[in-house]
Amino acid sequence: MGLKLFNTLSRSVQEFAPLDPAGKNVGMYCCGPTVYDFAHIGNWRTFVFADLVRRYLEFKGHTVTHVMNITDIEDKIIKGVREAKTTLREFTGKYETAFLEDLKTLNCREPHQKPRATEHIPEIISLIEKLLARGVAYKAADGSVYFSIEKYRGCGCNYGQLLKLNFDEMRAGERVKSDEYAKESVADFALWKALAPEDGDIFWPSPFGEGRPGWHIECSAMSMKILGASFDLHLGGEDLIFPHHEDEIAQSEGATGKPFVKYWLHGAFLLVEGKKMSKSLGNFFTLRDLLAKGFTGREIRYLLLTAHYRETFNFTIEGLQGARTALARIDECVSKLRELAGQNTGQLQTDDSLVSKFAAALDEDLNISRAWAAVFEWVRETNLWYNPHSHDETLVARVTRAKVAANKLAAWEKVDSVLGIGVKTEVEVPAEIIAFANARAEAKKTRDFKKSDAIRDELKAKGWTIEDTPKGPKLKKI
Ligand code: AMP
Ligand code: ZN
Repeated sequence: MGLKLFNTLSRSVQEFAPLDPAGKNVGMYCCGPTVYDFAHIGNWRTFVFADLVRRYLEFKGHTVTHVMNITDIEDKIIKGVREAKTTLREFTGKYETAFLEDLKTLNCREPHQKPRATEHIPEIISLIEKLLARGVAYKAADGSVYFSIEKYRGCGCNYGQLLKLNFDEMRAGERVKSDEYAKESVADFALWKALAPEDGDIFWPSPFGEGRPGWHIECSAMSMKILGASFDLHLGGEDLIFPHHEDEIAQSEGATGKPFVKYWLHGAFLLVEGKKMSKSLGNFFTLRDLLAKGFTGREIRYLLLTAHYRETFNFTIEGLQGARTALARIDECVSKLRELAGQNTGQLQTDDSLVSKFAAALDEDLNISRAWAAVFEWVRETNLWYNPHSHDETLVARVTRAKVAANKLAAWEKVDSVLGIGVKTEVEVPAEIIAFANARAEAKKTRDFKKSDAIRDELKAKGWTIEDTPKGPKLKKI
């Protein structure tokens, strides 16, 4: 069955067919972090969404080249360097390291390439030179270079492929130097920003004079260098549709004359407790803030993966508590299967209903709610199938059940290769707790139930429960 995705370019759900004639290789570019602060939970929604896309393409047998840039030169960064009175590299390095650590905490697969803008200045300059040579860019009096929307449109090119724009409102000759602007102020945008006094020592030499690149050109230069003039997928949050992605298309197609990206995917925004995140409202969370509150990366990942990527997601602390409960249900089911499967290795059955229902859901523009419904239906069915009194069974029946359990685990692992929530590894039981459990078993043997109950209470106080199972007592961390 084929994967269908909503393409912002066509504003419709389309069958996904990679540019590779063999249909195997996929080039995917995701706009990465601007490293001027710790990434917040909204940013993480978008990066976890990109990870879901990549993992699902790999699940479907594609070989994905996943590129995520690091924006380490941009207006907000310059301001941050100035305020922190430090060097550019020191300033951005701190946040880049934190970002990569957080990426691991959320169990996102590491992008194959993570190009930094500051390491691609020659590629950026040569792209600007191409745009100048093609007549769609011009040099302003201060030495900055701008992209000319009028000239670009004059060549029959389409500016506004992702978003309908009203050009009648646009005043000829207007230009914008800052990297971020609203669609009401559509204007010629900066490709190269001439050195300004506030830039301090952050500048590079270029044929146009000393200065630094604009934000938009960075992504065009790095994505095309690694993935070629035309590639399959480009992702980001919905706020990047305009101007960032619109400008990327204009710069790239303006320079090469070829279609830039086949499918544009945009993730909807995350709100916190129904509101836009802001420091003054006290609802601004970085991943680290949530970890400090005692939540884990997998709980946060799970929650971020519960909503469809094109729907605004309302993040709440209550939701995170719900994630904990939901994960505990999955963990319990999977650890029972592990116990039953023992040393057996399972095989993924071609007609496995968990895997087929899961894939059918994600094929439909990544319908994650239906995919989770398939997972929880499987948990319910598996719990019903699992029989804790299986020690009464014949040896043949027990062996068969162990094999079925192993096959069920193989199906779960296949599905989890996309979800990436893993399963909590069994916690190691400290020697002191084992000694308590042994003393309790001894007390039970001598029918000293008062003592065995007292030990059970003591274990509970230490954070452990003990459950008598057919295979003997089992310790569990509360
Ligand atoms: P930035 O570091 O600001 O360049 O943003 C990194 C990514 O996070 C971009 O793809 C943004 O679109 C995305 N993003 C920013 N804020 C939010 C939010 N509240 N919800 C979802 N994605 C966001
Ligand atoms: Zn970008």
